[in-house]
Amino acid sequence: MNAPNPRGLWHGRAADLLARGIDGRMVIDGHRYHATDGQLFDCISPLDGKVIARVARGKAADVARAVTSARAAFNDRRWAGQAPAQRKKVMLAFAEQLRRAREELALLETLDMGKPIKNSLSTDVPGAARCIQWFGEAVDKIYDEIAPTGDNALALVTRQAIGVVGAIVPWNYPMLMASWKLGPALAAGNSVVLKPSEKSPLTALRLAELALEAGLPEGVFNVVPGFGHEAGEALALHLDVDAIAFTGSTRTGRRMLDYASRSNLKRVYNELGGKSANIVFADFDDLDRAAATAAGSMFYNQGESCNAPSRLLVQDTIADAFVEKLKALATQYAPADPLDPGTVLGALVDETQTQTVMGYIQAGLDEGAQCVTGGRRALEATGGQFVAPTVFDGVRNDMKIAQEEIFGPVLAVIRFKTEAEAIAIANDSAYGLHAGVWSRSLDRAVRVSRALQAGTVHVNQYDEDDITVPFGGVKQSGNGRDKSLHAFDKYTELKTTWMRIDSAN
Ligand code: NAD
Repeated sequence: MNAPNPRGLWHGRAADLLARGIDGRMVIDGHRYHATDGQLFDCISPLDGKVIARVARGKAADVARAVTSARAAFNDRRWAGQAPAQRKKVMLAFAEQLRRAREELALLETLDMGKPIKNSLSTDVPGAARCIQWFGEAVDKIYDEIAPTGDNALALVTRQAIGVVGAIVPWNYPMLMASWKLGPALAAGNSVVLKPSEKSPLTALRLAELALEAGLPEGVFNVVPGFGHEAGEALALHLDVDAIAFTGSTRTGRRMLDYASRSNLKRVYNELGGKSANIVFADFDDLDRAAATAAGSMFYNQGESCNAPSRLLVQDTIADAFVEKLKALATQYAPADPLDPGTVLGALVDETQTQTVMGYIQAGLDEGAQCVTGGRRALEATGGQFVAPTVFDGVRNDMKIAQEEIFGPVLAVIRFKTEAEAIAIANDSAYGLHAGVWSRSLDRAVRVSRALQAGTVHVNQYDEDDITVPFGGVKQSGNGRDKSLHAFDKYTELKTTWMRIDSAN
């Protein structure tokens, strides 16, 4: 017998999955439902442009139904009222369910939004499972406070679940972004209504089923797929939603604040876009590593990462050599079939995104930047959405490709002379999500890290990430922090309880 062809393996599994059919109905109160008005939308795979599922198109009536279910679950305390140790058990079982369903979830994610199967298997599913597990494990280890008072009083400062959380998430890491909200929100005892992106709704629906199988009570976690201006808007405007945990573009984040001000002043946590600067100083001696990381972090997930180091600031004395290295490295990121386990750069999420990216490439050329590699679509015959990894040299920071988030495999190289100039360029951005500094001088690395306006600064690497540290930005990259124990701040309210203590006589 011939050795199994791994490429064939995932194509075979995809064919089986599609032949069985993907259930695109909403999950409300523990059950699957069609939209109230029966409408559906096509879920199109960016691998080949084919429809892989028809999904319920949730609107205001469906959101209302989901919020009613979430509120009822919260009010009768079927989840919030369970001891933290018991909630932990369910969360750990939920994480285990994700691990058991790893291959199915990875396949759904890749078919739905185009990332390489290798990454779905190694990062997205395990990352989501670890997140759910980590917050589950944490929740029975957090204590409340007693305030310092005199003998005649006792003042408790306690954390209480906030109530009904609306989670609205993007398509670039559908499962991971959902789990960053679900982990702390559910562990703290809240009920959640999740609105996945219309471009990637499939794994969210499976997550809700797996949570139910793990023992999460019905109504605690509901999923309403649909469009932003319909389901998303209805959720963010709903008067009985206590908080919106949003991840997405800065444009939509602005709307979230508007919805809150027009409705019930619900809390809004915004995790938004980025245009992160990665600064390489000439004193960094291992330029091969710096270049490999700059390319790897940029082209990972087809450049559709909020924290992608999309502005590369290189000191002028090493810039020519550095750009040559990037050009050579780009060949390792040739777009290929996302279902092939060897592929490192898959498909962009849809035709609209491809057009957006190609529009930015044209803008770079129009403004006089030099495209040293890429700059074109690839694999058109597949019917899929592929763009070659692209590097622009000679970029000025006031160009469109340096100021706006492209969200595709396009790297802008900006040359600088001095440390002060590098800091000024890096901070001259509406965004402030991540930043990188490469220098062998400890003094410089610390000075520059302190000066950079960013939620996370990477020194001599750009890959480190873990559930244990907060993730979020400053400026127009948002105000929320996902991950780490700080995430509990978003999903709990501090309550003070004063008690008078009379003396014995
Ligand atoms: P998007 O803002 O278009 O959509 C995000 C979500 O909001 C989707 O579910 C969408 O349906 C919904 N939405 C869209 N319009 C809406 C409206 N008018 N009312 C209510 N909801 C609406 O963003 P996207 O294109 O899906 O995602 C890419 C963006 O997400 C990028 O800017 C990226 O940087 C950002 N992102 C940020 C982080 C972070 O942690 N900071 C992480 C991942 C992605």
